[in-house]
Amino acid sequence: MISEKNLAGSADFTFDYFGNGGFIGCICPDCKSEVKLQIEIYKSGKLVEHLKELFNQSLIDELLERKIIHLKDEKISHHNRLEKYILWNMDALYELISCIGCENAFISIFGMDELQPGREEVQFKGIWKLIS
Ligand SMILES: [Zn+2]
Repeated sequence: MISEKNLAGSADFTFDYFGNGGFIGCICPDCKSEVKLQIEIYKSGKLVEHLKELFNQSLIDELLERKIIHLKDEKISHHNRLEKYILWNMDALYELISCIGCENAFISIFGMDELQPGREEVQFKGIWKLIS
């Protein structure tokens, strides 16, 4: 399960933001350490589908139910190039983050793609605490 609260909010970013050393941060709700997510363009993140190997399908189902991710629509032609789980017109990716101050683990969900020629975007959906 993931925490009710999204610790980092959600926002869209340009690729330049991360290329220039930008990162996304939030505070561990338990030990108050800073939790940092750095995104390397086209390197960071694994497909959300692989979460079922680490946890099980229930975590993916929870992300779907909370509308953090969506299933791709086979009937929409520009979804053809996408994997099973998507954000808005891009694959949904995740990164796990360990707290540097306590045992907590967090999951972040984001995607990155060129939506149209010249319009590259990171869709960042948030950071949640993993609850076992
Ligand atoms: Zn902590």
